[in-house]
Amino acid sequence: MTMKISQKISVKCKKCNKLHDINPEGFSDPEMTSDERSMGYETQYIWEHEFNCDKCNNDLKITIEGYEYPVGILNYQEFNSEGCLIVNEPSLEINNEDYEND
Ligand SMILES: [Zn+2]
Repeated sequence: MTMKISQKISVKCKKCNKLHDINPEGFSDPEMTSDERSMGYETQYIWEHEFNCDKCNNDLKITIEGYEYPVGILNYQEFNSEGCLIVNEPSLEINNEDYEND
């Protein structure tokens, strides 16, 4: 089971208001942690993306968290940003293909 970011994210620099689009491919692989709970494993995925505004050189950071629980279900998601505002929120989805092919 893998969770992925399914659409581009737009953020606005807090300093100069420049808009930045980040494609899902711009994020590296998420950090994953699993915990066993009553209905099986809960997996937390965390993506972090840091870059500098190409207009004012402000430090921008986006953190995306997704929780899969029970397995195959997107239970909860949270987005955080530093130095910028999220204009177009990311969308997360769980790729069920691996599971169906088992
Ligand atoms: Zn800027």
